[in-house]
Amino acid sequence: MKSKIAWKLFAAFLIVAAWALVVSYATLVPRIDRFLVADIEKNLVQKANLIRDHVESLDDAQWGPREADALADRMSREIGARVTIIAPDGKVLGDSELDDADLERVENHLQRPEIQQAIDADFGSSRRHSATIRTDLLYVAVKTRRGFARVALPLKVIANTEAEIRRSIVAAALVALGIAGLMGLILSRSVVRSLLRMSEIAQRISRGDFSKRLYSIPKDEIGTLARAVNAMADGLETQWGELKREKNQLATILDGMIEGVLVTNAKGEMVLVNPALTAMLGLSGDWAGKTVLECLRNAAVNDAVERALSEKMPQEHEIQIFVGGQERNVVVHAAPLHEGSVSVFYDVSNIRRLENVRKEFVANVSHELKTPLTCIRGYAETLRGGALEDPSAARRFVEKIETNASQLQNLVEDILMLSQIESGRLEIALAPTPLKPAVDAICDEFSEMARAKKIELQNRVGGGVAAQADPQAFRQILGNLVENALKYTSEGGTVTVTAETKGGFCRLAVADSGIGIPEADLPRVFERFYRVDKARSRQMGGTGLGLAIVKHLVQAHGGEVGVNSEVGKGSEFWFTIPLEKTT
Ligand code: ADP
Repeated sequence: MKSKIAWKLFAAFLIVAAWALVVSYATLVPRIDRFLVADIEKNLVQKANLIRDHVESLDDAQWGPREADALADRMSREIGARVTIIAPDGKVLGDSELDDADLERVENHLQRPEIQQAIDADFGSSRRHSATIRTDLLYVAVKTRRGFARVALPLKVIANTEAEIRRSIVAAALVALGIAGLMGLILSRSVVRSLLRMSEIAQRISRGDFSKRLYSIPKDEIGTLARAVNAMADGLETQWGELKREKNQLATILDGMIEGVLVTNAKGEMVLVNPALTAMLGLSGDWAGKTVLECLRNAAVNDAVERALSEKMPQEHEIQIFVGGQERNVVVHAAPLHEGSVSVFYDVSNIRRLENVRKEFVANVSHELKTPLTCIRGYAETLRGGALEDPSAARRFVEKIETNASQLQNLVEDILMLSQIESGRLEIALAPTPLKPAVDAICDEFSEMARAKKIELQNRVGGGVAAQADPQAFRQILGNLVENALKYTSEGGTVTVTAETKGGFCRLAVADSGIGIPEADLPRVFERFYRVDKARSRQMGGTGLGLAIVKHLVQAHGGEVGVNSEVGKGSEFWFTIPLEKTT
């Protein structure tokens, strides 16, 4: 028997049953003995009375020692016990166990205890050894008119009866013990089986397996426990499901967030990091259990988390970190939790960069506006100061004012155009635009300027090619490039527009034989307000925004821009634009 409970129950059953049997045996057997002896005694008294009645019924003539002995022998045979007939003076008249010779020798029985008792109380009894027949006997004597009648039974007979009764009791006790043991075994096994089943289910639940239930439920306390286990499994399964759903929801939210999230325990050790934070800070995988300082190596973040933990107040810091060789601006918002802290990291690098760009732009615009405005004011003051009286000077100054005013106008128009493009307010309406006529129109527009500088302006774009472009934007792009080429090419030079198609796009190029651009400036010429030679550009009425506008418009069409140039030899500005869709 492996189970301890089964063994304990079985042993308890056996002990209780054995104890009950021992106690009842110990109390029952002496009682039975007493009852048996009393019954035998009663029986012997009845027999002695029978003999007394017989003795007393005889006439005196019929009575003498001879008759008494004969009566003793006869009655002994009848009742199956030793019979002694004694005279009132104690002389033994007859005895079923003694012959005549022995009778003569037998001593006076008056002092025998049973005879003494019978003298006082009609009958007496005694257990003792009979010296006469050398055996233990139970004597019962009754008083008669002619002395005493005594009946004796050997104690061995009584002992045999007692032993038989004891044997029966022991046999019955052993059978009862066996039945009790068997019942204990069956009961304990069924209890243990139910308990083992319940413990198996509880173990499954602890492993997160809620699939099993108890089906055979008895109508007792074990059944109540089994129902409670089933109810517990149902409840835990529901709660477990809800927890799992909530956990999945939280994981999905954390995974989908663009903000980084860091959760620490009360000791400041990291317990949760979402993928956005891993990417933002370039964390490796083994962050779990480390402190913020150990893992992030940033005193400001550590400070924010520690203060949130100790002061139980939200903290906010902006930090600079280097990830992959790039500086990033990150705002950290750390807040206390019940036991720990949660920090949210926002990458504000783009916001800060845009802020800087805007500041720079405002500074550039102010600067660009200042120069022509200062000039206009200067010329106006000079005119007011007396130059108005000198017509030729006045005319020159007014022309200067006009030039600066148109410079201002160009600037404002370019800024407006650029802000329209950048803010997405400029709508690009794509339409099939045949290239040759479009380029012809631009060449016509700038023919006067080319002629004035004796520059040969050529359109080498072949017919039959159409771009998918906004005609006005296309005019602006190519117009800016042709105008730049004419501006930065000396007299007698050439400006050529070419086109070639490649992979769904058309590459248009404006090549000139002008001054060229130093290699160091090439990467920056498409930036706003960037000019290789500021004075020259301004003199030409340039704003430094033309190429920036070209770049934005080309990108709005999904194309690219670029430049190849060599100082003193000329430049080639190119851009790509999608070809007309042939549906
Ligand atoms: P700008 O109004 O000054 O011409 P752009 O943005 O059009 O401004 O051009 C930026 C700068 O690029 C010019 O100031 C000039 O120095 C240089 N650049 C543009 N086109 C040419 C060209 N075809 N040849 C030489 N330099 C050029």
